[in-house]
Formats: sequence, C-alpha cells, structure tokens
Amino acid sequence: MRAMLLDRNADVGTGPLRLHDVPMPEPGPGQVRVRVRICGVCRTDLHIVEGDLPPAKRPVIPGHETVGIVERAGRGVRAVKEGDRVGIAWLQNTCRACEFCRSGRENLCERPTFSGYHVDGGYAEYALASEAYVYPLPPVFSDEEAAPLLCAGIIGYRALRLSGVKPGQRLGMYGFGASAHVTIQVARHWGCSVYVCSLREAHRALARELGAVWVGGATDHPPDKLHGAIVFAPAGEIVIPALRALDRGGTVALAGIHMTQIPAIDYDRDLFGERTIRSVTANTKQDGMDLLREAAAIPIRSHTQRFKLEEANQALQALKAGRVKGAAVLAVAP
Ligand SMILES: [Zn+2]
Ligand SMILES: [Zn+2]
Repeated sequence: MRAMLLDRNADVGTGPLRLHDVPMPEPGPGQVRVRVRICGVCRTDLHIVEGDLPPAKRPVIPGHETVGIVERAGRGVRAVKEGDRVGIAWLQNTCRACEFCRSGRENLCERPTFSGYHVDGGYAEYALASEAYVYPLPPVFSDEEAAPLLCAGIIGYRALRLSGVKPGQRLGMYGFGASAHVTIQVARHWGCSVYVCSLREAHRALARELGAVWVGGATDHPPDKLHGAIVFAPAGEIVIPALRALDRGGTVALAGIHMTQIPAIDYDRDLFGERTIRSVTANTKQDGMDLLREAAAIPIRSHTQRFKLEEANQALQALKAGRVKGAAVLAVAP
C-alpha cells in the first residue's frame, strides 16, 4: 500500500515525509483494518515530524484523524463490522489496568498508545485501529467534514468543557486554527459569546464569519471580562494575556500537546482571584462520543482545504505558515 513515512525528524520545509510502498498491516485480535478515505492534518503531526515530541516509533506513518471503511476485522471484534464507516482518533489504545483507566480517565493512562505516533496512522491507504477506540461516524458528515472532528473537534470540545464556561457565558479563544473553528460552533450553539484573538487576518475573518462577537490581534485585550478561555496557539507567552482577560474564578484551558515556555506569572495581578490554568491531555472515549453526537445535532460544518496523500509535506508546511483556513485534509481514496 502507499504511505507517507517519517524516517527522522526534520524541519517540515525539507519535506521529511516520503511516499513508500509498504506491506498492508494485518489486524490482530480486537483490531480492524480500515481502508482510508480521508486523513486530517493536525498540528500534533507537525510536532511529531519536527521532533517537538520525542520519537516513539521509526519509521512511522503519521495521521490521527482518519476516516475510512472497515475492510477487515480481527478475531473477537464485535463493536464494528466490515463495511462500517469509522473514524480513528489520536488515542489508539490504553492499558485498562492503571488507576486512570479504572476511573474513566483513560486520557491520562500511564501506558497509552497514540495513532500516528506509537503506531502507524492514517497518512496511508490502510490503517489499523483498536475496536475499543474506533468511532462510528454520523451520516450527516461527509468523510472530509468528519476528519477534523476526530482530533481538532474532540480536543477542542474537551478544552471547552475544562474551561468551565457554561451556556450563555463569555469565552475567549487564542489562536484560530482547525480546533478553534470547530469549537466556536459548539460554543455558539451553547449561546456563548466568543472573543477571538489571532495573529492572522484570514483566521480572524473566519472567526467573524463563524459568529465571534469580537475579534482582535494575538495579544489584544477583549473589551469584556471572560468566564473562561482556551489557548490553541502553541505559544506560552499567550497564556499571560489570556489570564489577564479572565474574570475572577475563570479558567484558561491549554489545548495544545506542546507549548513553548510560559513566562513568569505575576501572582497578584494575573492569578489571584482564583484564576486557574489547566492543560488538556488527549481525550476519553466518552469525550469523542459526546462531541460526535453534539456535532451531528448542530450540525457543525468544518471548513477544509484538500491535499493529496503525496502532498502531506505541503499540507504541513501550509499549516505551519498559518495558510490553512479551517483544517487541512489528505484525500487518500476519496
Ligand atoms: Zn491505563
Ligand atoms: Zn491532533
């Protein structure tokens, strides 16, 4: 099968992913093989390719927003069957034995495996998934619309919940890429007023189009105090203006898997008043099910920019340069 392989970390500008013909993977017990149609391109893929995350498998096929059709089921698989359309997300499997797995917090599992990182992902014609972590996809979404929901959507949804913002309240968003453009649609559905800070005019324009009540530059100060905020940008310095925009008791949720260093925080000015900073780490299966159900009811419309499988480097370059409006996807077998 054709796959885009990463042998070693390099700046994405050098085109480190290379097209190879590799053996088709065989599903083990409890696994399914999915014929990939579309795979979303996530900022985490960029962090994996460029080595911001420590290498876990080499070579590796990236991709963790995979949409396709179950083509073969391994022994003992019951939850899905051949011919089902499913999504494969970042969390590929968990140990099911640690304290976190046993308390419904498998996103914090001590021995998790992630798609496109510990195991091969969806930048390929076929991908394996664990039965326990595949998502049936609501028919209201096309393959291309569904892909960005699988990471950008689910993680943004978890971040929205962890920001503590309730329906009708004021939410700040810092950075407006794939995840934010899905999350704003959920927040607007909740009746929230959304304030968006972004570096790029194209992203600010999309935020306005999607109903932001106020839009400003990356570190501009929103005109109203926020009940909560989500930092999507991987830039630690953004945490300070986000904290300052909060009302007392508010929370800043950090949605990224990687972030540059956060500068020193002035306790009296920026944190006192029971303001909270919290990170967002992967997601539970339940988060994924909840997001997909709510996204279908709204329904969320993802804006996508399409690339071919062999253009994965170009897709990542566009993402890095902030040239993607909405989410980039690879059309593998559309
Ligand atoms: Zn575990
Ligand atoms: Zn992701």
